Amino acid sequence: MAIAYFPNMYPDELIYSVLSRFYVHCGYPTYTYAVQDLLGNAKCKVEKEFVKNIKPEIVDLLTRNMSFSELLEQHTMLPMYGRFIDSERRERAYQALLNLDGDFSKLFGIPNLKKGEQRFFRYCPLCVQEDREVYGETYWHRLHQIRGIEICHCHKCYLRNSTVVLDSKVNVWLVTAEEVIADDDALQGEVVFCANSSEVELVNYIVSVFQSPMDMRKSVPIGKYLHYRLMGTSYLGARGEHIYFNRLWADLKEHFNGISGMDDFIGNHIHTIIKGDRFVFWEICMMAMFLKISVDELVTAKENIKMPQQIFDERVYRLWKQGLGINEIARKLGVASSMVRMAIDITERKPKATAQKIFKNRKQDRVTLDKEILPLVKQAISELHGTGEQKPCRISMGAVSKKINVSRYLLQDLELCKQVIEKAIECDDKYHARKVMWAVNVLQKSEKAIKLWRLRYLCKFEKEDMLACLLYLEQMATPDIVDIVKSIL
Ligand SMILES: [Zn+2]
Repeated sequence: MAIAYFPNMYPDELIYSVLSRFYVHCGYPTYTYAVQDLLGNAKCKVEKEFVKNIKPEIVDLLTRNMSFSELLEQHTMLPMYGRFIDSERRERAYQALLNLDGDFSKLFGIPNLKKGEQRFFRYCPLCVQEDREVYGETYWHRLHQIRGIEICHCHKCYLRNSTVVLDSKVNVWLVTAEEVIADDDALQGEVVFCANSSEVELVNYIVSVFQSPMDMRKSVPIGKYLHYRLMGTSYLGARGEHIYFNRLWADLKEHFNGISGMDDFIGNHIHTIIKGDRFVFWEICMMAMFLKISVDELVTAKENIKMPQQIFDERVYRLWKQGLGINEIARKLGVASSMVRMAIDITERKPKATAQKIFKNRKQDRVTLDKEILPLVKQAISELHGTGEQKPCRISMGAVSKKINVSRYLLQDLELCKQVIEKAIECDDKYHARKVMWAVNVLQKSEKAIKLWRLRYLCKFEKEDMLACLLYLEQMATPDIVDIVKSIL
């Protein structure tokens, strides 16, 4: 059927809402006909928080007065689910949105609901009354569906659940807000205002972030940015690398005490957000607000941020270059002199400078260099493992880099080398077993009796460590060595 009428969208209206109004206003004889007209296939599910599977002519109608990206930003929940996710995921998810197809829950990494929990479309009783006065009907607002908030930012009253399920896994028909929300008289009894001023403040903050313009091409690593913004607080160690998560969590919990958004927020979440493994919109907003980051700063955060530890190292280095002594710098900055030494050391071995130098000299690309350095890396690992004569050393990126005299930063960039080194890194017990083998060999060569104290002296570890490494020793050493060690333990 050719579409003769299509409603205009109201401010902040979900696409699901306008499609529902279309269905109801057109007076379709059956629901199937409407879905057929909108989606082209009566079996398709109607997407509630985004837009999916709709026919091109419907997209044209929806974008009569705006571009498709504006439609996504102003009439879907993209600003909640897409704002802070990592760049790779964001690109895939955005592409799926543009194609009007995909599993958006998975693509955006939408947090699952708790077992038995169900989400419903929500409304504010006072907004409903205002909509009816202005437009003659009410509709589903996006701002009322933001997870983690419970009150209407305009009226400061608690939102109410409707009977329409919002959970993405549950299939619902096109239902308008007007049909399911009671008449104005009944609504009066539902208004409960929020008395908690910090909750109101938080909701205003979250709504402002939600409504701020989005740049889908830009992706700020939000965890990194929050870490950066801890600078100058008591939650960061002197050099800026170590974060006092327990202290941060305790203060944040205290700050938002009694606020509904805290119900599912647990201490581990702030850890995973800062490490860049969690992107929950309302939790990030809470952390940002707690850290006194303005909405503007949060939504315009730059992609390239200097991390606190780098800023600290550079500051130390500047003072060092000005001629201050290590102890003097330490006193001035209130840190241990070993930390000052480390900062100087790291800055002097600037990763980029070393890598660039090598590239410049050799005029090779990374892949060729990777292949060329690989045999050296393998040789270094075998030497670090120790032979009968040579004492084993612990394998690490740093140890290999030192041995072959190639910057560890460069090594980390060489895929093959990196893989081989990472594979060679051993657990403590395996490394200890190697040391025991070497120590037994040393004692045998010098024809000294093998005693526990001699082994302990050579290996520099305790009897418990020897017992713990027996399993590996059995795998790596000859049976006679295993027997000798077992007999003295
Ligand atoms: Zn309201």
